[in-house]
Order: sequence, then structure tokens, then C-alpha cells
Amino acid sequence: MARVFNFSAGPAMLPEAVLRQAREEMLDWRGSGMSVMEMSHRGKEFMSIAQEAEADLRSLLGIGDDYKVLFLQGGASTQFAMVPLNLAGRTGKADYLNTGSWSKKAIGEAKRFCTVNVAASTQDTKYTRAPAQAELNLDPGAAYLHYTPNETIEGVEFPYIPDTGDIPLVADMSSTILSRPIDVSRYGLIYAGAQKNVGPAGLTLVMVRADLVGQAMAQTPAMLDYAVHAENGSMYNTPPTYAWYLAGLVFKWLKDLGGLEAMAAVNQRKADRLYAAIDGSGFFRNPVDPACRSWMNVPFTLGNPELDATFLSEAKKVGLVTLQGHRSVGGMRASIYNAMPEEGVRTLIDFMQDFERRYG
Ligand SMILES: *Cc1c(COP(=O)(O)O)cnc(C)c1O
Repeated sequence: MARVFNFSAGPAMLPEAVLRQAREEMLDWRGSGMSVMEMSHRGKEFMSIAQEAEADLRSLLGIGDDYKVLFLQGGASTQFAMVPLNLAGRTGKADYLNTGSWSKKAIGEAKRFCTVNVAASTQDTKYTRAPAQAELNLDPGAAYLHYTPNETIEGVEFPYIPDTGDIPLVADMSSTILSRPIDVSRYGLIYAGAQKNVGPAGLTLVMVRADLVGQAMAQTPAMLDYAVHAENGSMYNTPPTYAWYLAGLVFKWLKDLGGLEAMAAVNQRKADRLYAAIDGSGFFRNPVDPACRSWMNVPFTLGNPELDATFLSEAKKVGLVTLQGHRSVGGMRASIYNAMPEEGVRTLIDFMQDFERRYG
């Protein structure tokens, strides 16, 4: 069996050790005589899996007791609606930063439920940088400010946490969560689809300050109300049990690695090497402001776009797959999330340098 280095933006690679353990436990989870997929979500076996996963996530991120941690379904895209439904009612207005494709989608959805003030936009410079704090045009009446710390498609990352004073900060961390330590206490709410850095698709993490729960608009469906999920320990209905279990294995893997400081050191090394290789070449190019370059998603173009197909097919032959850029941006994109080994990035750089020698 040959595993490839998969640079997909999501679903993304999972740590091989996690997949091996899941295989080991597939038919008989620790003497239960059944797979985790077959367990009652309310039985003591699954309850122990669920509680341990939450405890590990809390310790990895240093999440305080004043935050609820929810294990939901529907992906980050469902959060685009849940956030305004639950948080915007207080004033009917919310601030959004338009910094890339995902924040733009979040804005589009929020407009169904509240008045959106776009407090900053980098659309006119093709989303190649993050706006500075001084550029943020904050509305003092906003119920919250929503932003996307890492724009997965454009490869742009905020080098700072926006300061909103007392206004709750809401972050879509789908493509950056667990890539490094974060100060959760700076946020009112953090959400993330799992399929990039956490586990399989089908699970969505939400960390929300407890005082923000319980303010949903009257018409909010039960399944979209944070209070309903919080009161029921994320088991108002059947949760995505197997994805929750796998996320728990990923949390253990991160703890064994030394936690998020250790993960951050690896991620920074991977990103630094790849950007240095791009910048040091006369052939590859990354358009993002160096101060705002993503550690997780690295878009790059070739000196001659007619070589794109050749690049992709030759890369595949050496086990480097899913490097094509998003259809809206073109070129290439290497997503190098937590589970991408350093060897994968080294192999990619070697391939790029060889490709440039032959075609550049
Ligand atoms: C992938 C992604 C989404 C969409 O996630 P789904 O789980 O597919 O809804 C939203 N925001 C960001 C930043 C993403 O990277």
C-alpha cells in the first residue's frame, strides 16, 4: 500500500497513526464487541468517547469553563446562518470583514437575518492581504464582528486578532483551528468544520461563550439553536458519532506530539520552507502579502500557466496529489494542514525545483 501526500484543501489528510488506530478498533472497540459506528450515542461507551474528546480539546486550546463546546453537524456553512440567528437578535446588526471567498459567503448568508456592515473589504485588491486594525470601520451598535482568520481559498491569514472592545468576536477557524495555540478568551464564538484540521467531514466544532447562548431569534429552528445543543450536550439528536470519535483520536495525537506549541513549530517550518522555495524561484509565484501568508493553504502559480496540467500529472506520478488551485483562483494550491508530514513538503519542494530545472 502506498499512501500519497494529499494537498487537498478539504477533506484533507488525517494522521496515519490515527487511521491505523481506527482500523485497529474498527470491528471491536475496546472489548465492546462493536464498532463505534454501531454504538448508541447515549450508551456509556460512546459517552466516554465523547467526554474524553471534549476534555482533550479543552486542554489543547485552554478553553475556559465559561465556554460551551458543541459537536454539531452541517459544516461551517451552517454556522454562516446559525451565528446571525443566535447572536444578531440583540441589535439586529453585525459587522463582517470581507477578506476572501469564505467570508464573502458568510456575509451573503448573514444578510438574510440581519443588517450587515462590511467593516473592511480587501476584495478590490483580489484578497491578497488582511486589513489592518486601523482600517476596520466598526459599528458600535453591532451585535458581533465576524471574520475569517484564515481564508482557505486565497491563502490569506490575519497576523493579529481584531480588537473589538466589548463587541463579541466571531471567527470561522475551519482551516486554521489547532494549527497553533490561540487565546480563546479573546473570542465570543469560534467555529470550524472538521474536515481540514480536526477529523472527517460531518462534524463541526463550536466554542461559544456561555453568556452568548440563549439569545436566538424566536423563529430559530431547534437544530440551529446553540442553547438546544448546549442543554443536551450536543445530543439533542443523534450526533455524528464516528466523526466525533475520530476527532478525539486526532486530539490525542496532538497531545502526544506535545500539544499546539509543538504543532505550531512544525507548521511554521513547513510553511517557511515552502514560501522560501517559491520566493527563491524565478518560476513559481505567490501573490499574498508576506505578512499575511497562510501557514495552511499556499496558493502559487507557474511562470507559464500552459504547464499547469503537466505539473499536476507529473506531481501525481511521484505521489503528490490534489495540488490544483480552487476553480475561482486557478494555478496551484498546496494545503499543508497539521497532518501533512514535513516529508510531504520536502518532497513537494524537491519536485518543484526539479520541474523548474526542466521546464522553467
Ligand atoms: C472549508 C471552509 C468552509 C466550508 O466548510 P463546510 O464544512 O464545507 O461547510 C467555510 N469556511 C472556511 C474558512 C473553510 O475553510
